[in-house]
Formats: sequence, structure tokens, C-alpha cells
Amino acid sequence: MGLSGSTGTAPVITDRGLHEMSDAFLSRIEAKRDELIALTQDLVRIPTLNPPGENYREICGYLAERLGENGFEIKMIRGEGTPGDSKKYPRWNVIARREGTGPGDCVHFNSHIDVVEVGAGWTTDPFGGELIDGKIYGRGTCDMKGGLAASIIAVEAFVEEFPDWHGSIEISGTADEETGGYGGVAYLAEHGHYSHVNHVIIPEPLQKDRICLGHRGVWWAEIETHGEIAHGSMPFLGDCAVRHMGAVLQEMEESLYPALAEKRTDMPVVPEGAKQSTMNINSFHGGQAEPEPDFTGLPSACVPDNARMIIDRRFLIEEKLDDVRQEVRDVLEKVASERESFSYDLREMWSVEPTMTEKDAPIVTSVKAAIGEVLGKEAEYVVSPGTYDQKHIDRIGRLKNCIAYGPGLLELAHKPDEYVGVEDMIDSAKVMGLTLVDLLKP
Ligand SMILES: [Zn+2]
Repeated sequence: MGLSGSTGTAPVITDRGLHEMSDAFLSRIEAKRDELIALTQDLVRIPTLNPPGENYREICGYLAERLGENGFEIKMIRGEGTPGDSKKYPRWNVIARREGTGPGDCVHFNSHIDVVEVGAGWTTDPFGGELIDGKIYGRGTCDMKGGLAASIIAVEAFVEEFPDWHGSIEISGTADEETGGYGGVAYLAEHGHYSHVNHVIIPEPLQKDRICLGHRGVWWAEIETHGEIAHGSMPFLGDCAVRHMGAVLQEMEESLYPALAEKRTDMPVVPEGAKQSTMNINSFHGGQAEPEPDFTGLPSACVPDNARMIIDRRFLIEEKLDDVRQEVRDVLEKVASERESFSYDLREMWSVEPTMTEKDAPIVTSVKAAIGEVLGKEAEYVVSPGTYDQKHIDRIGRLKNCIAYGPGLLELAHKPDEYVGVEDMIDSAKVMGLTLVDLLKP
């Protein structure tokens, strides 16, 4: 018996029986509204700013205590030696696991515990977790402590309502998603913590009626052009690295950007503008270093002998990383063939392959059916323009049955007055709960 119509040895249950059963279960989740609000507020009031990675131990300890009291077996795992890990800022993660009464699949809910800097423009306390008109405000409410809280409530309601469930459920709170996830999901995947997992839901704020199947790829590189320093009054005695870089930018405008705009994907990327290949110029430095803000003097007259530019290229599942690299090399080689004394270095900084879970994967069909049941509408499939921890689960954990699904609006992430709606959390907890019924109820 399952919402997605799975068969097997399951007892026959009439449609009416199914609806009565899920009505009781959904009311149980509804009855946990105040608990869900309090849990979200507690999580938001632990400021887990990253960088540098504050209070990871505290928030993992909080989750360990709550879930431990509810019968979960707890593992605290430090991403020792990963980027940013230190005595002062240890990269702590927590995994809570609970076994059912018989053999079955393992469903894993993964949420990152870190939040980004507060920034300016807030009218509410960023770590107050204030509840105003059905919304909880604070840094990390939407991205993604609201999703973490909703998944916990869904799981707790499920094990209460169906004591005879089969398989296992895991809830993890992991470090550093906002800075690459190397001390969090990547570390756990490398150490085999996903090897037994069958289904993964990452409750990132993708909206309660959308299933996020994956993300585009990333390639970051630094381009450096070289010149020769000379007195600024006689630039012909030197060689200006900034003008060389200007020629690179011009060639990009003329050939690369139009080519990127032509590349369209079949991936359901949102927003619409990200359905093509994109490239951001992340930074540009040339010539003398910027003076301190309180320095009142003038610059010295010099020809810049060095310019550097960091590019952030996002690519599609239809593209190959090697081709993405080659396109930029082609730009540089073309400029080199046209400009005397042009020389450059190209340094790769970071890359992530695009990933997309199949629409007929069990976790997708299960969540889709649950969205239909709870919200009475067709789920929308989306793909994220940027990456998140699914990359590590796919690449290191070798698990293709993974989606992001959770409450909150992606547009609010990292913004001032970030909030998550209580009704959205309740609805997505119901969707997650019915997904568990589908996957784990015998
Ligand atoms: Zn997030």
C-alpha cells in the first residue's frame, strides 16, 4: 500500500481506509503546530553564523537532546581537518537514527545548521525568532531551520501514529552548506554515512508545492594577465596588464556571452533566466591595491603589471566541464593571437558537476503523490540555479534518489527580515509525513 501505488505483499486497503488513516495522521501533525513554532524559534535563537561557524556544537547538542529523548540513536561527528575546522570553530554534525519494527528502506532528512551573515536592513531581531502574523522571522528561518523543524515534526508524528512502521529514519543536521559543505555532508559521505541510505530529502526552501530535482554545474576560475611596471607618464615604456584584461573582457562580450545565451537546457531550472548557461565576473583587480579607507593621499603613477579576474561559470547538464574550460581558453588564445606581448595564466579554483534526479525515482514519485494529497495540486519540478549539498550525496555518496523539498520561499534566503510561514511549514511537514507513510508503512 502506498500513495504512489506500490504493490508487493502489502495488505489490500480500500481508498476509504487510506483516506481515514491519512486524515488522522494529518490531524496529528496539525496538532503539533505550537510545538513546531517553538522548535523553529529555539533553532533560530542559536546563532550559527558561517563564516566562521559559530555554535555548531550547541545546535547539534540541542538536536541530540530532543531526538535522543524521542528514542533516536545519536551520533555526533566532527568534520575534523576540513576547511574552517579549528579548536575555536569545530565543524560539528549530528545524525539521529531510529529503527522500525521490521526490515525496510532508510529515509534520510538532511538539513544544514549554518546560516549566513545578518547584513543590514533588518526591522526584526535576526536571532529573536519573533512570530508575527503567522510568520517566524530571523536569519535562517527560511534557509533552512524551518525546514529542519518541519522534518522533525513530520518524523515524530509518523512514529507516534504508526508504531508498526518498517525500515529506518535518519535526521541529520550538518555544517557548512553555505561555504561548500566540506565539513558537513561531504565529510559524512566520504566516511560512509550515506552508504546504507535509500532516499534523501533536503528540506531547503524550495516552496511546499515544488520538488527540486538537482542543480546546475559550477566552474570557478581565476584569469591573470601580465604586464610590465613603468612610470605612468610614459606608459609606452611599460605594458598595461589592465588593458590586456580589458581585451579579454571585450572578447567575452563579443563571442562568449552571446554563445552562452544560445545554450538552453531541458532542466526545469528556476528562475527562467537561469535556463541558459551563465557567467558572472565575480571580481576584478588590477594595478595598485586599494588604499585603506582613511588614507587621504594620491596613488603613485605606475603602469599596472598585473590584473586578475575571477569568473563564476554556471553550466547545464547538457554541457561537459571540459568544454566549459575550453571555451574560456579559446577566448584567451584568440586575444593572445591578436595582441602583442599578451600573456596569461588560467587557474581553476572549484568545480561541481550538474546533477538531476530522474522524475521516476521513488523519492520523487512519493513526494509528488503526497503534494497532490495535501495541497490538491500537481507538484512542479524545479532545478536550482546554484548548488547545495545534493552534489556531495550524488558524487561521493553515489545516491541518485535525492531531492530538495521544503517550506519557505527561495527568494527570501540570505535577505534582511527573512521569514518562514507557519502554514507552509505545517503543509510541508504533512507532505514529508505522507512520504514516510508511502515508503515505510508495511
Ligand atoms: Zn540553505
